[in-house]
Amino acid sequence: MAELSMLIEPVYIVTIFFFIIGMQRMSHPLTARSGIVWAGAAMLIATLVTFFSPNLTNLMLIAIAIVIGGGFGYIAAKRVAMTDMPQMIALYNGMGGGAAAGISAVALLGTTTTVTGTLAVIGGLIGAVSFSGSLIAFFKLQGWMRSKPITFPGQKIVNMAVLVIAIVCGVFVVIQPSWVPLSVATYLPLFFILSLSFGFLMTFPIGGADMPVVISMYNAFTGLAVALDGFSFASPNYAMVVAGIIVGAAGSLLTLQMAKAMNRSLSNVFFGAFGATEKEGAEINGSMKSIETDDVAVLLAYAEKVIIAPGYGLAVAQAQQKVKELTDLLESKGVHVTFAIHPVAGRMPGHMNVLLAEAGVAYDHLFDRDEINPEFPSTDVVLVIGANDVVNPAAHRQGSPLFGMPILDVEQAKNVIVLKRGQGKGFAGIENDLFYRDNTRMLYGDAKDMVGKLVQAVKRY
Ligand code: NDP
Repeated sequence: MAELSMLIEPVYIVTIFFFIIGMQRMSHPLTARSGIVWAGAAMLIATLVTFFSPNLTNLMLIAIAIVIGGGFGYIAAKRVAMTDMPQMIALYNGMGGGAAAGISAVALLGTTTTVTGTLAVIGGLIGAVSFSGSLIAFFKLQGWMRSKPITFPGQKIVNMAVLVIAIVCGVFVVIQPSWVPLSVATYLPLFFILSLSFGFLMTFPIGGADMPVVISMYNAFTGLAVALDGFSFASPNYAMVVAGIIVGAAGSLLTLQMAKAMNRSLSNVFFGAFGATEKEGAEINGSMKSIETDDVAVLLAYAEKVIIAPGYGLAVAQAQQKVKELTDLLESKGVHVTFAIHPVAGRMPGHMNVLLAEAGVAYDHLFDRDEINPEFPSTDVVLVIGANDVVNPAAHRQGSPLFGMPILDVEQAKNVIVLKRGQGKGFAGIENDLFYRDNTRMLYGDAKDMVGKLVQAVKRY
């Protein structure tokens, strides 16, 4: 066993390279799946090699925990619907934060120096916040809790007070001053209870449309907590440090990009109470006008330039294959077809890219918001499929909860066809005046059925 333990450090170094390769591959939809495999393999190898450590005790308990946790994760991930993925990510991410907080607690219960103790306290605080905050995000996304912001008077002061007292308890745990009235045995649980409470309190005021930023932020928190925990041992665990730093850095970058995409400043993200902004007040004039499949088919078949703007409804209906068929058909008729991809369309970052790549839509057909927005005024038909919030012009109107969120400016096209089942609202729960515009027609039905019918109809022209 002693000889085998010498393998641990070199194998950790190898897994670090695997993590980096995995991360690099995850940055492109075409290689993302293999990136997950690389990172997953790295995690598996790092876990297995850790069993060679001579310091490891309670092997049986660890094995049972791995079987229960791994089994639950495997079954849940196999069963989860693509559209419920954000909840699952929130939950698993929370588990990571909880595990990091647990490691900190164990480190703090043992012997620490001021430096390792401080790192364990910071890791514990961040991990616990990520755990409880992610649980609230899970409850809200799962519909087990009101998804609207939960606010109360003096909320920011209460939040800040809880955070400050948690930090003070953490400091007492590390330096153990003789003049404090209580013992470490009291401050340690108090520290964790307050840290967990801060996670709950911080997430309550965040509602609906801002949830993606929050999940991404807690993801970064979990990475950071794991990295700090890696330093809290007598000899640092470099696999934890590097894996944690990668997750922390990737999560932070994603948070920044998501915040930008949703027009939220980072101070909004970090100090809460966002999503609880102004009330939706404006009245919408006009009426929704419906259109038949055949008329849409004529518009599409004789158009020069068509842009498809997909959203969450496309994922729900699993319409991506049909959309690919329609694209190929239109292109065979000489129509120029591209896709407008909003960064928060769907329910997870890159949701539309993944779905369309899965259906074989060439990556050079996909354009992000900044690239495609100037194209709308010269577009004959925009086909909005199951998207709502990301094409809502209310984002341009002062007082709207969506105000300031950069959207796909589809309303500037000559004709806008919105394909959805009925009058359902989007994730943010507000009316969409795009549907009432003169150049908009509503094509009602399930995205997969209707795109299938469009394919048949376009073939006739
Ligand atoms: P929205 O949630 O705004 O709208 C989706 C629309 O799809 C609904 O209005 C619904 O209308 C329609 N729909 C649902 N099922 C079907 C179906 N089977 N066939 C056709 N249409 C259907 O989606 P968007 O993509 O526009 O916006 C994403 C929203 O989700 C944003 O508010 C974003 O902030 C939020 N979000 C994004 C995350 C991300 O990371 N991407 C994560 C979490 C939230 P109807 O019921 O009438 O059919």
